[in-house]
Parts: sequence; C-alpha cells; structure tokens
Amino acid sequence: MRIGVLAVQGAFAEHIDVIKKLGEEAFEIRNTGDLDIPFDGLILPGGESTVMKKLLHDLDLFEKLKEKINSGLPVLGTCAGMILLAKNIDSGEESCFGTMDITVKRNAYGRQLGSFVCTDSFADEDITMRFIRAPYVTETGIGVEILAEHDNKIVAVRQNNQIATAFHPELTDDHTVYNLFFRMIENKAAK
Ligand code: GLN
Repeated sequence: MRIGVLAVQGAFAEHIDVIKKLGEEAFEIRNTGDLDIPFDGLILPGGESTVMKKLLHDLDLFEKLKEKINSGLPVLGTCAGMILLAKNIDSGEESCFGTMDITVKRNAYGRQLGSFVCTDSFADEDITMRFIRAPYVTETGIGVEILAEHDNKIVAVRQNNQIATAFHPELTDDHTVYNLFFRMIENKAAK
C-alpha cells in the first residue's frame, strides 16, 4: 500500500520512516502535483495545526485533500493532525477539515504537563503513548468510537475512514496504531 504523508510542517519524516520500516510505501505530500499518483491512505502529522492549516490553503491542498477524506480515503491524524480533522475546537477557533465529529481542546495539558509518556489501553491493547503539547477530545458525536482514554480524557478516536490520536505513534516503537490504520486500508480495498 502507498501512504501519503502531509509534509508541509511538523513530524512527517518520522511517520515516513515508520511506514517504510513496516514494509509499506510512503511519500511526502508537499504540493498538488504530489496528488497525481494514486494512494491508499493519508497521514496528517503532529506539528503546529495553525501553521499547517494556513499552508494547506496557501498550497491549494485543502479542498483536494478534504474531498478525498470525504470520499472515504483512510486518514490517520496524530496530535496536530487530530486538530485538523476535528469539526470543532473548544476555544471557538475555526476548524480545518472538520470531517470528524469531535470537539478538541488544543494544548490541553497546560505548560507543566506539556510533554509526557504513559502506558494506557488503545483498542484493547496496552501501548506507550507520547504526548507533546497535545490536544484531547472533549466531545464526540454519534458514530465516533473511542479507542483510548488517558486520565479520563479521550485521546484516540475512530469515525468511519478516520483515526485520530492526541499522542505521537511515530515517536515510539509501538506500531499498534499503524497496524490498525493499515487494517482499515486493507478492509477498504477488500470491499
Ligand atoms: N499544540 C499543537 C497544535 O495545537 C499540537 C502539538 C503537536 O502536534 N505535537 O497544533
């Protein structure tokens, strides 16, 4: 399978490394020309969501990627990527793609706890989660499945073709999140 990783800002190189390590193909999406060759899944990485949102518009990628997500392209959003997918941001900021029926709180852990690592259950498996100035989910709409909670806060969700995590799976050796994403892509291909 071939996975496109949004590569305008943030931790895209780390995602590409992991995907290749897991034996799949990955490429950078930097401009509209990169969308010419078909691909099976999209990753929206961690970074700074406000910067990524601006660049998505400036580079003319926004509408094209939103259309793909809406038409069922499997997508994994991590940290800032979760914010890009969210329909609502609790501060009232304007959303980006808004394709996932969740409300997120940005920089939700405050300065003290800005970055931390923990182990918690993700889709019934204990995994290591690395959080960096992470959001969490404050509300979920109908059809949104909660995949993980930490400290009673929702930190991973799935809705149809979309998975979002508040933590950074590309920065640990645990590949559970990728395996779930790959399975989502395979299931779609089998239909
Ligand atoms: N705080 C960042 C934002 O709001 C997200 C942090 C991250 O992706 N590590 O965009």
